[in-house]
Amino acid sequence: TISKRLETIASYCPQGARVADIGSDHALLASYLLLKGIASHVIAGELNEGPYQAALKQIHTLQARDRASVRKGDGLAVLQPREVDVVCIAGMGGQLIASILEAGIDKLDGVKRLVLQPNVGEEVVRRWFMDHGWELIAETILEEDGILYEILVAERGNPVRPYENKERTKEELLRMGPFLWEQKHPALILKWLNEREKWEKVLAQLSRSDKPEAAQRVREIKAEVEWIDEVI
Ligand code: SAM
Repeated sequence: TISKRLETIASYCPQGARVADIGSDHALLASYLLLKGIASHVIAGELNEGPYQAALKQIHTLQARDRASVRKGDGLAVLQPREVDVVCIAGMGGQLIASILEAGIDKLDGVKRLVLQPNVGEEVVRRWFMDHGWELIAETILEEDGILYEILVAERGNPVRPYENKERTKEELLRMGPFLWEQKHPALILKWLNEREKWEKVLAQLSRSDKPEAAQRVREIKAEVEWIDEVI
């Protein structure tokens, strides 16, 4: 069995797809995709030696190992052109995910779908989609072991479509996630209430400060808290 998080990521990989999992660590997602008969082929990419060795070992245990390839390298550099239909990148910050996509943008020719799970910085990933012609087509958020995870799925298309004709502005929805917002997902509400609580703590600390910058910071944070209250 694998985590609910990886299982949910796998559920966004179409049947029969050739899938690359970049930053695969122990290649658990790639193994699952093969074992469940979801992917026809998998490529597990890893930058670091330890996880790369772990991935090799894991894939070696599989009967379907001839349909898997474990490769060491940075981001999308491990891929040949038009080798996969789907690229998954999970368990890293949104900034790192966006920089991996940016650095390997040529390798995305022929890729039909991106399934990404940023640990933080989801907004950076949504903006990257927007700026590069990828249309966000689905989002979900889930809680596992007390941690909230967001999964963003994109295909080539009209990148502004998810943000059109909504109650909220594009800028707001880039932060919240247009589909998550529409679903009023309980986990999304929880995420922003956590965020709000964090800011309240910072405000309490700042109120004890007599530094001149503190007053400006307090105004900014109050504006942020008000925004959260309005949107949530
Ligand atoms: N994707 C797995 C998951 O979601 O459970 C593993 C996440 S783990 C926190 C992040 C992995 O990405 C690490 O094994 C790390 O070595 C690898 N990594 C970091 N930067 C990378 C890059 N530029 N290219 C490939 N792998 C990278």
